[in-house]
Amino acid sequence: MTAASKPTVHALPAADKNLPKLKDDRLADIVAQNAAFVVHVDARGRLLATAESTVALLGYPAAYLAQVSLQDLVMPEHVRELEELMALVSSTGEPQKAAIPFLRADEGCYWLDLSVQLAQGPGDKNEPRFDVFGYDVTSWVRKEHQLRDESRRDPLTGMSNRAHLREWMIESIDNGVASGKAFAVMMLDLDGFKRINDSLGHDIGDALLRAVGKRLKAQLHQDDVFARLGADEFVLVAGNLDESDTWDRLAARIVAAMQRPFSVGGQQLRVTFSIGIALYPEDGLKSSQLLKHADLAMYSAKDRGKNQFVFYSSDLEKVKAEAFSLEQDMLSGIRTGEFELHYQPIVDARTREVLAAEALMRWNHPQGQRPPTAFIPLAEDNGLINLLGSWALRMVCAQLARWDANGISLAYVGVNVSPVQFQNPAFSQSVMSAVRESGIDPGRLVLEITEGTLIKNPEQTEAILSRLHAFGVRFAIDDFGTGYSNLSYLRRFPISEIKIDRSFVSDILESGHDRAIVSAMLSLARELDLSVVAEGVETEEQLAILVERECQYIQGWLFSKALPPEDFEHFVATQVVISLKGRGRGSLFRIF
Ligand code: C2E
Ligand code: CA
Ligand code: CA
Repeated sequence: MTAASKPTVHALPAADKNLPKLKDDRLADIVAQNAAFVVHVDARGRLLATAESTVALLGYPAAYLAQVSLQDLVMPEHVRELEELMALVSSTGEPQKAAIPFLRADEGCYWLDLSVQLAQGPGDKNEPRFDVFGYDVTSWVRKEHQLRDESRRDPLTGMSNRAHLREWMIESIDNGVASGKAFAVMMLDLDGFKRINDSLGHDIGDALLRAVGKRLKAQLHQDDVFARLGADEFVLVAGNLDESDTWDRLAARIVAAMQRPFSVGGQQLRVTFSIGIALYPEDGLKSSQLLKHADLAMYSAKDRGKNQFVFYSSDLEKVKAEAFSLEQDMLSGIRTGEFELHYQPIVDARTREVLAAEALMRWNHPQGQRPPTAFIPLAEDNGLINLLGSWALRMVCAQLARWDANGISLAYVGVNVSPVQFQNPAFSQSVMSAVRESGIDPGRLVLEITEGTLIKNPEQTEAILSRLHAFGVRFAIDDFGTGYSNLSYLRRFPISEIKIDRSFVSDILESGHDRAIVSAMLSLARELDLSVVAEGVETEEQLAILVERECQYIQGWLFSKALPPEDFEHFVATQVVISLKGRGRGSLFRIF
C-alpha cells in the first residue's frame, strides 16, 4: 500500500451515537504505513473505530466488531498481557509494543506486532482512549516457534529433549505449580543398547529407539512429559494416574510392554529397561533432586540385574556412600600394597600333577579380606580395574620368571581380564610390556576372558586378540557355557582353552542334563583342538565323572584353594614328592 492510495477508515456504527467523531486522516496515515490492523478503542478496550484493512484481516463483519472489545479479539490466554500493556500506556503516557495473537473469524490466528499509544484529541485522563495498530508478523512468529520447538525436541524420536525437560521441570515443579499433586519422575535406561548399536549398526539402533519411544508413549497419558536425554536414556514425568492405578503398576506395565519383541529392519529385537523412580513430593521438591534420585534408583535397578524398576529410597544413598568410601579405600589400598595375587593350581585330571595356575586377586582390607566379587565390579565401574589389571599382569609374569629360577616351572598362569580392560587402548601394550620385562615366553601367559567380552565389541576385541595372539599370548574362555550359546566365535577368535563353568561341575552327579552338557563341551573342544579345564571340582566323585569323560585338566578345592605364592610353592613341592613316589618323575608337563 502506498501513501498515494489512502485507504478508507470508517467509524463503526457505534452503540452510543454521541461519541466524538474520529480524525480519519490520522488513522489512514497509519494504515498507509503498512499497519493492517488499526483500531481506536476506549479505556475498556471497546472498539470505537476501525480501518477497513482490519476488517479484512480478521474476517469479521464490521457490525460484529462494533459490539466487541479488543479483549474479545485476542487469544484468551493473552488477554491479561494486552490489558497490562494498556495500563502501562495510560500510566506512563508512553507508547508500548508487544506481539500478541489475534483470533480470526475462521478460527485461525494472526500474530500482530502491536503498538498501543494514547489517542490524541479530546479525552479524559481517567477515561483514556488508545490507538492500537499492528503489523502482521504471523510468519515470523511461526518460524520462531518452529525453531524453538525444534530446539526443544529430540529429532530422532520427536520427544522432548533435555533442554525442554529441564525448562518444563523448573516451570512446573520448582515454581510450585505442581504442588499438591503427586507425580513420578521415571528414569529409563535401555539395557545393552550399545551392543545392538555396535553389532547391528546405527540405522537399526535409531529405528529401535524410535519404536521404543512410540511404545513408551502409548503407556502414558496425553499430557505426561516424555523426554529422551541421551542415546538410550529416557525420562518421563507421569502425573496422571487413574484412580485404581499405582506407580508400581505403571512401572510394571512399562517393563511388560517393552518385553514384546520389536520388529525393526526386518528383524525381531528384544530389549529390556532398567527403571528408577522418584516420587514427588516425598522424594524431593526440586526437579534437580528428583532427577538425581531417579537416576540413583535406575543404577540400583541395573545393579540388581537389569530389566526391573526400583523406587528411590534413602537406603540407596547409603549404598552409594559405601561404594564411594570403598572406592577411596581401594585407591589407598593400591598405594599401600593391600592387593595381592593368590594362585590356584590347575592339575592333570589323571596324574593330579600341578601343571599350571590361575591368578586370583585378593584384597586385604584393613577390616578384613574382601572377595573379588565385592570389589571387581566396583573397580570396573570406576575404572580402577585398568590399574589393578595391568598390575596383575606384571606380577604374574614376574612370578613365573621367579618360579622358573626356583625350579618350579609351570606351563602357564591364567590371568582374568575384565571386559573394561579390553576397552582401554593401552591394554595390549600393557600385556606386551609385562611379558617383555619378565623375559618369559608369551605363550605362558593365558588371558581368561568371558563370552561377554567377545560379544560386547566383536571388532575391537578381534583386533586386540589377533595382535596379542601374533605376539604369542594365549586366550581361554572363562565360565564357558554360561554366556551366549553362539559358538561361532570359537572359530572366529584365536582361542586356546575353555574353562567349563563351576555351575555345571557342581551338579554333575545329580543332573543328567549337566552331564550331557559337559560331555558336549568336551567333544566340541576335542573337535576344535582346544584344551579344557573343569572349574570348581570339589569331590572325588565329580573328578571321577570328568576323568571318565576324558576331561584333561582340573581346578578346584578338591586339590587346593587359591594360595599365596609361598604356600603355592609349598603345595607344588609336596605334590612333586607324591608324584615322585607314584610315578617316578617329578617334572611338570606343558599343557599345550
Ligand atoms: P573366576 O575367574 O571364575 O575364578 C574362579 C573362582 O572360583 C574363584 O573365586 C575361585 O576361588 C573359585 N573356586 C575355585 N575352585 C572352587 C571350588 O572348588 N569351589 C568353589 N565353590 N569355588 C571355587 P574368586 O577368587 O572369589 O574370584 C571370583 C571371580 O572374581 C573370578 O571368577 C573372576 O571372575 C574375578 N577375579 C578374580 N581375580 C580377578 C582379577 O585379577 N581380575 C579380574 N578382572 N577378575 C578377577
Ligand atoms: Ca577365571
Ligand atoms: Ca571361571
